[in-house]
Amino acid sequence: MTKLADHINIILNELPSNVVLVAVTKTRPVEDLQQAYDCGLRDFGENRVQEMIDKQPQLPADIRWHQIGHLQTNKVKYIAPFVHLIHSVDSLKLLTEINKQALRAVRIIDCLLQVFIATEESKFGLDEQEVRDILSSDEFAGLKNIRIRGLMGMATFTDNMEVVRSEFETLKKFFGRIQNEFFSGSCDFNILSMGMSGDYHIAIEEGSTMVRIGSAIFGERH
Ligand SMILES: *Cc1c(COP(=O)(O)O)cnc(C)c1O
Repeated sequence: MTKLADHINIILNELPSNVVLVAVTKTRPVEDLQQAYDCGLRDFGENRVQEMIDKQPQLPADIRWHQIGHLQTNKVKYIAPFVHLIHSVDSLKLLTEINKQALRAVRIIDCLLQVFIATEESKFGLDEQEVRDILSSDEFAGLKNIRIRGLMGMATFTDNMEVVRSEFETLKKFFGRIQNEFFSGSCDFNILSMGMSGDYHIAIEEGSTMVRIGSAIFGERH
């Protein structure tokens, strides 16, 4: 077995059956993605639109492409025809554009709202009030070509795993409140995307249903 296959199998064996592994493939050549595909992975996450649209036509059509990095409104049109899930929705303006492009592509696009849970300034995301404001707005009610499937969050980049754990716990509780208040009676809101190479064990313990893992599969990025 190749090293890549070893890494993937170790991670897959650790994941509960309800947790989806998204292989984060930013900066990796398509050969690496093909290898991961040959190991059985179908969910791939990219940060940059340009990279996703370069790679997508070179790889098998049944790959599920996840947009995990910050998404600019003017780039939505390039991924709308095929993207599987957008994890990084952080404004109503962006959501409105995704809806518009989904309509053009005759699709419904699944989205996660990215929530700010870290103490760092640099991370994108919404706070609890902003999430509520979006979900209760009239404008949101009119968006028929997007479906909010859950939340995404990134913990603070730190060695202090108690900080990381408490941020994930906070996000999970928030997820539960939003599910109850806005999505009771619907099964659609069921994805909690949290956990990366350095913290996915903790994320799973705290209720993650989708982990985004790059370097633990493909090695360090340069
Ligand atoms: C790069 C990235 C990951 C994966 O990071 P690793 O530490 O390599 O596993 C996950 N989520 C997002 C949003 C990323 O940008």
